[in-house]
Amino acid sequence: MPAMNAIEVKNLTRCFGSFCAVNDISFSVGKGEIFGFLGANGAGKTTTIRMLCGILAPTSGMASVAGFNIAMEADLLKKHIGYMSQRFSLYEDLTVAENIEFFAGIYGINRVDIKKRSAWVLNMAGLNGKEDLITSTLSAGWKQRLALGCAVMHKPKVLFLDEPTAGVDPISRKQFWDLIYEMAASGVTVLVTTHYMDEAEHCHRLTLMDRGVIIAEGSPTDLKTRVLKGTLFEVEAEPFSQVNEALKNMDLSYVEPFGLKFHFLTPAEASGSNIQESIKARLINARCLVHHIHPIKPMLEDVFLALIGRKNKEAT
Ligand code: ATP
Repeated sequence: MPAMNAIEVKNLTRCFGSFCAVNDISFSVGKGEIFGFLGANGAGKTTTIRMLCGILAPTSGMASVAGFNIAMEADLLKKHIGYMSQRFSLYEDLTVAENIEFFAGIYGINRVDIKKRSAWVLNMAGLNGKEDLITSTLSAGWKQRLALGCAVMHKPKVLFLDEPTAGVDPISRKQFWDLIYEMAASGVTVLVTTHYMDEAEHCHRLTLMDRGVIIAEGSPTDLKTRVLKGTLFEVEAEPFSQVNEALKNMDLSYVEPFGLKFHFLTPAEASGSNIQESIKARLINARCLVHHIHPIKPMLEDVFLALIGRKNKEAT
């Protein structure tokens, strides 16, 4: 019987010697969902994706992708998924058309369909008329869309994108995300890793990994309300190190510098304007010059910094 979810992961673990890069993680992703996979460098995201693509065997646990068991049906699974890595996996010294043909060959697309699918890739990548250009001469945005086209030309049910927009300009990133939305709307399930918080906001659901384990999961809005209980403030004051010191000495569950400003979270039970005045007074007492202090809307970056901070505190 086919699995209800496009991705189903249960107690998945991958160790390298005594070190477990992925340690007992479980989650599921529904059909047509855009699922963001976030975490600092080395958190275990790529290792997870490699297991879900059937190219790395798990140490224990199980997962199914597009209805196929990743350990027992890896070869079948590969025909139904698309994968695009940070390095775009293109051959730089081949032309655009040759890259498309190469991937068509890998996916076993038949002669009749190759023409149709190639035209589709050129169109979606905005590369019509550029078939004979050498890939290395393309801009990062074009390369990215060509790589996406090549990764999905066999119409996969599940698409894995590992930092697909790293090093690409904001306009190309926006165009890329428009394509991702279109694909998800047509029923393709997308699992994407990114370090860009604005991109994370575009995901239907997110999971945050830290040192091999999942520490939070939910929609962007859900995570903000669940993790950041209380009121989030922004303060601009100087001198920087004195403000940092003073805020850290107050009973605040979260204090983080953002450029020359700070974000901090006041306890849920404290009322907005009173606490704002009291913190301002304490900063002035600590001989800080306060330019402004006011409540702000939480960003995902706040959510993740707060969660990682709490996890680090628990570990000490
Ligand atoms: P990044 O954002 O940098 O890509 P990531 O979250 O994708 O990070 P992984 O690439 O999955 O992280 O790596 C997780 C940990 O596992 C890292 O400490 C990495 O060094 C380690 N690791 C990955 N592959 C191997 C391997 N083949 N042998 C030993 N250690 C490995």
